[in-house]
Amino acid sequence: SRPRVAVVGGGYGGATAAKYVRLFSGHKVDVTLIEPQAALISCPMSNLVLGGSATMQQISTPISGLAGRHGVTLVQDTVRAIDTAGKTLTLAGGRQIRWDKLVVSPGVDLQLDRIEGLPAAQASGAVLQAWKAGPETVALRRQLEAMPDGGVYALAIPEQPYRCPPGPYERACQVAFYFRNAKPKSKVLVLDANPDVTSKGALFKKVWAEQYPGIIEYRPSYKALGVDVPNRRIRFDLQDDVRADVMNVLPPMRAGVIAVQSGLANQASNRWCGVDYLTFESTAAKDVHVVGDSILAASGMPKSAHMANNHAKVAAAAIVARLMGWEVPAAPMLTNTCYSFVDDKRVMHVASVHEYAPAEKTWRVVQGSGGLSPGPTELEGVYAWNWARNIWADAVA
Ligand code: FAD
Repeated sequence: SRPRVAVVGGGYGGATAAKYVRLFSGHKVDVTLIEPQAALISCPMSNLVLGGSATMQQISTPISGLAGRHGVTLVQDTVRAIDTAGKTLTLAGGRQIRWDKLVVSPGVDLQLDRIEGLPAAQASGAVLQAWKAGPETVALRRQLEAMPDGGVYALAIPEQPYRCPPGPYERACQVAFYFRNAKPKSKVLVLDANPDVTSKGALFKKVWAEQYPGIIEYRPSYKALGVDVPNRRIRFDLQDDVRADVMNVLPPMRAGVIAVQSGLANQASNRWCGVDYLTFESTAAKDVHVVGDSILAASGMPKSAHMANNHAKVAAAAIVARLMGWEVPAAPMLTNTCYSFVDDKRVMHVASVHEYAPAEKTWRVVQGSGGLSPGPTELEGVYAWNWARNIWADAVA
């Protein structure tokens, strides 16, 4: 009978893996992808929706192309349980699916309960994250629109590692861009649990000083411990409370819930999933491959869409090779580029190339391979939109 691969999650990692298992196997492997959403709503570019220069429609791509063009069986549901020994999974709707190889790419779980008062504040809609693009992105934009001129927007950033290292700093630029045009007496307060800006630091600080003086204020080593909705305050471990009209509090993150529940998050106090880096096979369960944000990242490897897409291709090649009796590729490479919009048009990037180091069994950044923009330009803005359209097409078209 034909080999069966099941994929949990149709985001950047899962959708790419599903498509490339079909392509690499010449359609000889059956692939079933389980994803509750009908479209990939992109986190990359979603900060532009907050800034007012992109729409949700522009950042959403239906995943139906995976079925129509590539013969992936799409199941619109949520995986409730994975039996890694019995090689089955159970959907919320009750159905069971059997698999020979499994790919798990559920993204991150936002650990709301690590910040006092945050679970209730987020359930009521008072304090949002918008760290998974979708309805919360729209709701946070509405909060910014409703805020009076002269108000304060506070963005609390958790300690590393979290999804998308430059993402919060780009968001600060986007909100400041909106304020500068629409309500110039307002402020953006960046309250960072890390001791310094964790990505493109010097570039962001220069942009904040030159483009948004008096609007963006950056405070390092601010670790949020609680939120107080009635008094509109965020509480910190060392400093005084901070009052803000719009509180955008990002809690610490870990591997997606289903990865944690099925025992795949076996690293860093059960926070991230350990994998054999050559194949992305789980170190907790045979024939289960974990890709994307959920894995314990190798040194210098950010939690990004670009990386998830690259992990997925390496994992797909290894899975197909094993199912077909071919040799597993021995020297894969990964690339990464993260673009950040500092306003509606100007962009700067950070890039890297990663090679598999067989002796150390890990990924290593190739010396001198990447780099940083000297500063933001409109040409890079064109590149950034093309990057986004290309990766959406690569994943789901
Ligand atoms: P996701 O893309 O989140 O996909 C996970 C999918 O799994 C979701 O669709 C979810 O519905 C599904 N799922 C979860 N649990 C289950 C379950 N039990 N059953 C079935 N399905 C399930 N990266 C870049 O490379 N460049 C950028 O410019 C960039 N900008 C960003 C900006 C922001 C504001 C944010 C928040 C992130 C940004 N990122 C960027 C990071 C990028 O979004 C993530 O790294 C990427 O989405 C990770 O892919 P993934 O497959 O691990 O998770």
